[in-house]
Amino acid sequence: MPNQAVTRTLTASLTNHSQVSDDLDSHGFAASKLWNIGRWTISRVWDAIGHIPDADELCSSLKKHDRYADLHSQSSHRVLQELGEAFVSWDKQDDPDANPPGYRKHGDEHPRSTVTWKNQGFKLDTAYNRVRLSKGTNMKPSRYAADYILCEYTIQADEQTLEDVETVKTVRAVWTGDQWELHFVCEMQIDQPESSGEKTAGIELGICNTAAVSVGDETLLYPGNALKEDAHYFRQEEYNTEGENGPSDHAEWARHKKSRRQAHLLHALSKDIVEQCAKREVGTIAVGHPKNSRDDSDWGRHDNKRLHDWAFETLLSHIEYKAEERGISVERVPEGELQTSKTCCECGKEADSNRVERGLYVCESCELVANSDLNAAENMRATVTPSPAQDRSNGCLAQPSVRLFDKSTGRIAPQEQVVP
Ligand SMILES: [Zn+2]
Repeated sequence: MPNQAVTRTLTASLTNHSQVSDDLDSHGFAASKLWNIGRWTISRVWDAIGHIPDADELCSSLKKHDRYADLHSQSSHRVLQELGEAFVSWDKQDDPDANPPGYRKHGDEHPRSTVTWKNQGFKLDTAYNRVRLSKGTNMKPSRYAADYILCEYTIQADEQTLEDVETVKTVRAVWTGDQWELHFVCEMQIDQPESSGEKTAGIELGICNTAAVSVGDETLLYPGNALKEDAHYFRQEEYNTEGENGPSDHAEWARHKKSRRQAHLLHALSKDIVEQCAKREVGTIAVGHPKNSRDDSDWGRHDNKRLHDWAFETLLSHIEYKAEERGISVERVPEGELQTSKTCCECGKEADSNRVERGLYVCESCELVANSDLNAAENMRATVTPSPAQDRSNGCLAQPSVRLFDKSTGRIAPQEQVVP
């Protein structure tokens, strides 16, 4: 089996947050200050000679600046590199109305910018889940003080651990809005399995059912309850505790907890979907992006729409990398190209009236009765495998295997009895 190198980012919570947050704060503020100094330098050079200095030019001109030594030199370098990259992509837009990258100001204060440590700037101890992040020279109060921030971490959600990882290329400290977390950017070798199968699976993502999967002669349904209930419950928590001066600590907690739980749910879902596909010898997954979510009325609120767009995008990218690890290719079918939800997957007739309520699709021409999301998933499948005559006499489009998220175990498990 040939190996393949891939890059993954593993997110970790800090288990000694209160001990390291002051140091991380001062490094985060320092990164913002350096960014602003770089930004100011760019303006000056630009005004003087009409040239935007690139990252290398910025670094060499600011290397001796006092603020450069607030962070480890590689970390400072990275801040200016990001600034340079931001200008390059602004320049590429070629849009007269686009604003150039701005200063990092938060009222009179500096926000906490992401700080990146490269290979010489950190020391990882995977046996004890600890990482030493080098301080900037200016950040050491005395020559006897520690020259590093000792972070203890735990990897979030996914089952992967840093011990499986080939190389950790960078460690990033990221401020989430209420606390710091660490992102380990890793290089991993994965076995490139032989393409696991000949079959194609069609997947439809949606709100009522987070995912509907069709492999032709078998179908799976992942009801949307878990994501929905969670969003509802935590939103209540947030509103119930919202103070006059913005979100209270409790609201912040609810928000944070929600994002954790959703991250876990999306990992569990994508893992199960890919495992189920692999088990059925699927070699290709065709998946549609549900931008024009037809179940919008279920939600109504704009926030929910945004939440779901984010959730779908995250779910899609999880499916992609988990499938890649099993040699299954994923094709994103562009939205709008197909009328997957309006077309009968059996006879191809397309009509608005075919959509009937309560999640059932009833075709007027061929009398197909199917779960509407599975009908769409089957159409999605046919975009890659043009309708090989499938024997659907088993009624699988009306009788899916339903797979539910079990809150007590945090895993997906089959629901045995299904009422269509
Ligand atoms: Zn039909």
